Amino acid sequence: MTGMNWIRVIERERGQYPVVKVAYTPITCMQCEDAPCIKAARNKAVYRRPDGIVIIDPVKAKGQKQIVTACPYRVIEWNEEKQIPQKCTLCAHMLDKGEKVPRCVESCPTDALVFGDLDDPNSEVSKYVKKGAKGLEPKGGNIGPNSRYYGKKKDIDLLFRNYTPAAVADMNGIRRRAMMAAMVKPAMRKAQEMGLLGLAGAIALNKLNGENDNG
Ligand code: SF4
Ligand code: SF4
Repeated sequence: MTGMNWIRVIERERGQYPVVKVAYTPITCMQCEDAPCIKAARNKAVYRRPDGIVIIDPVKAKGQKQIVTACPYRVIEWNEEKQIPQKCTLCAHMLDKGEKVPRCVESCPTDALVFGDLDDPNSEVSKYVKKGAKGLEPKGGNIGPNSRYYGKKKDIDLLFRNYTPAAVADMNGIRRRAMMAAMVKPAMRKAQEMGLLGLAGAIALNKLNGENDNG
């Protein structure tokens, strides 16, 4: 089986040569409130847990390739070997055992990811929301993504302007690679310039030293 990427990192450039800046944005399952993947699944093969985490049942979802394309963010991958759709689980199995945060949040060397409860006004993610962190709705859509993005104003503006998740996901040159792998590269240090926050059970991205950055 080839590697499956639960987090895609997209690159967006702004500026003109020789002054060009690149913003890296992680895109993963947004644990949507009104998830298209749930609607596309037969036999309740995709469902939402009470805590908000959207889960694909690997047994019920076998053979249901339509679930992959239902996601406007293109964060579901098709496992050819097992013939099942797969995606980020928000490490639900670990949270159920008492872990406080998902593995990617725990291991991110730049603290670009934050995990918390959007329903808790005192959580770290809620603090970012108060500072302006936003969910990335598909253009024309209203599906309630439960991740939030916060970062330098120019990068966030670039991300949200004309953002159509599927179009971005299908864009040539997108590096479909696991964030884990990417983060070992020095260039990925820039990932800290933009973060993904999230989930009502949320993963959130952080680190924004940059609202006032003009770079
Ligand atoms: S981001 Fe995609 S896979 Fe995740 S809940 Fe929303 S529609 Fe489903
Ligand atoms: S480490 Fe867990 S939360 Fe992070 S992308 Fe992988 S499955 Fe999702």
